[in-house]
Amino acid sequence: MAHELPPLPYGFDALEPHIDKETMEIHHDRHHKAYVDNLNAALAKHPEQQDRGLEDLLRNLNSVPEDIRTAVRNNGGGHHNHSLFWQIMGPNAGGAPSGALAQAFEKLGGFDQVKAQVKANGVGRFGSGWSWIALESGGNLWLGSTANQDSPLTDGRTPILGVDVWEHAYYLKYKNLRPAYLDAWWNVVNWAKVDELYRKAGGR
Ligand code: MN
Repeated sequence: MAHELPPLPYGFDALEPHIDKETMEIHHDRHHKAYVDNLNAALAKHPEQQDRGLEDLLRNLNSVPEDIRTAVRNNGGGHHNHSLFWQIMGPNAGGAPSGALAQAFEKLGGFDQVKAQVKANGVGRFGSGWSWIALESGGNLWLGSTANQDSPLTDGRTPILGVDVWEHAYYLKYKNLRPAYLDAWWNVVNWAKVDELYRKAGGR
């Protein structure tokens, strides 16, 4: 079964003024679509890999045939990362988390400290990549970044929030000012969704 580009769960202009409509159109319809298309093209070379779920592929990259492993890592990662990214953003969002996730953030110094660390990890990622909040297998939160389209799944972590720091995510509006993009980005975070992912991943 071919992997499919998920529809954006809101309009292209829904995240204005923080993320502009044109960026969203290009990002979803071209960049994300290309990851899906390239993932399917790679898997077509090994039909027995086509029925594996995306999480399975990324969590167990070593079991993917070597000649397509890099393509699956990059494009499968790109597909999974962006699918999460669209979900954890939304219109009329922002604010602060509540419930179990807010309590978990307290153990890391509180919400402001977590935001500062996610920003620092994003600013500090040289070149392209992602800044993450993920769960370790033991249930503890992990704040960190990955290069390119590498997924935290490949390191045994379950991502619950990721912010894309590739230039294509912000360059039209913010130019080279990645820190300004990261500051504005908190206004579009759907914390109810992040909390849901936290609990699904076994956070407590
Ligand atoms: Mn992207």
